[in-house]
Parts: sequence; C-alpha cells; structure tokens
Amino acid sequence: MRKLLLAGNWKMNLTQHEAASLAAAIAAELPADCPHDVALCPPTIYLATVSAALEGSTILLGAQDMYHEDAGAFTGETSGPMLCDLGVKFVILGHSERRHIIGEDDGLINRKLQAALRHQLSPILCVGETLDQREAGQTAEVVRSQIEGSMAGLSAAEMLATTIAYEPVWAIGTGRVATPQEAQQVHADLRSLIESRYNPDISQQVRIQYGGSVKPDNAAELLSQPDIDGALVGGASLTTESFIGIIQQAALV
Ligand code: PEP
Repeated sequence: MRKLLLAGNWKMNLTQHEAASLAAAIAAELPADCPHDVALCPPTIYLATVSAALEGSTILLGAQDMYHEDAGAFTGETSGPMLCDLGVKFVILGHSERRHIIGEDDGLINRKLQAALRHQLSPILCVGETLDQREAGQTAEVVRSQIEGSMAGLSAAEMLATTIAYEPVWAIGTGRVATPQEAQQVHADLRSLIESRYNPDISQQVRIQYGGSVKPDNAAELLSQPDIDGALVGGASLTTESFIGIIQQAALV
C-alpha cells in the first residue's frame, strides 16, 4: 500500500515573515490523524526559517532544487550537504520551470538526482509533456525519454527512494488540470516503464504524484485514481485554506 505524498511547492514566492506564518498555520491546521506524508518546499533562502516554524510538526521539509557538487566554486548554488544540514528530506528535481526556463537537461538532472541520493535526500523527479507534444500524441514518448535520461543508473533501492511527479507542462499554473483519466493513463504508463526497468514489486512500491493546477475541488477525483499517489501543489499551497483543503480531500480517498 503506497502512502500519498502531498507536497507544496512555494516556488519563488512570499517574504520570510509570510513563509514562517504560512508554515506555522499549515502545521497548526494539519489534522492530527493525517495518514499521508505532507511536505513543504519553500524557497532555499527560507529553509531554515520554515524548518523552525515546523518544529514539533510531522510536516517534512523539501527543497526546490540543488546542485550536484558537494562544495566548491559554484556561485549561487546549494549542495546536498547544505540541505541535509538544514533538516531537508525531499528535493524537487527537474521541475518543468527549471527544464524550460532555466534550460536544465536530463544529463544535469541525472547528476543532481545521483547527488541527492548519495546524501540520503529523497528526490521528487518531475516529468511531463508540453501542450504541443500532447497534441502531437508524443506524451508517452516524452515522459519515457525524460525518465530514461534523468534516472539513468539508479539501483532498485535508489528508485524506491525516489518519487516521480507527473506534471503536464500545460497544466502547471494555468488552472487547466488534466482529467483524472488523462493523468491516470500516464501514471499507469510510468508504472509499466518502472516495471520493465526493475520488476513488478518495485513498480508497485514507487510513488507517482500528479502535479498541475491541483485544488481542493479537483483533488479527490485525481487522488482516487489507482496509480496517483499524491500531489505536487504549486499555487494552491500558498494559502492555508487551499493546501489544508487538499489534504482534507486526500483523507477521503
Ligand atoms: C508545481 O509547481 O509543480 C505546480 C504543479 O504548480 P500549480 O499547482 O500551480 O499548477
């Protein structure tokens, strides 16, 4: 039985004070019997502040990116050991904004993934097609190629430590959500791909989250799909009401 992972990706938003208040409010509102894993991924510069605000809570801390080298002359970057030092558990890698705006490719994402795993961080690896690719019928091929490129060389144990996030680029921040059936189809394809690369047991254990305009009013239907194991939430993780609303919906599935 896979445990759902509900992770909030705050992207490049909020002041330090707002980040601390939001983390504290979400922690205070989290149902005591929440059966799912919940994580918050604030901007790197607020990780320590949010970590302090989450003290005593079961909410886990995530980073939005990291660099693959451990230390050295890499201006502006943040390493795995630095994230570990701050109590970070998850790290989002290969988010579509980093692939399409910053220009990251599968080779770089793979180096980051390997580095994260070396430091016992749990990567959340994002894959997903653009609207043009979906309309050209290339979705399965695009996500297969992203998985093969970014997850090259992962052992079975490393695969199990990694969460995949299927995030159709056309659904991120647009309000246009994939239908539960569209998302389920890609998640099932991803699970088959993991089975062919490892084995049925590994594929049944790997968590595959959906991301792309998840809100309280569409969460339950998405999360009740058999191969959807949680949500990576952008915009709706920026208020206590909507993020807690998604968590409450998840408790119903
Ligand atoms: C995301 O940031 O990964 C995301 C899915 O954003 P949104 O929920 O705003 O579409």
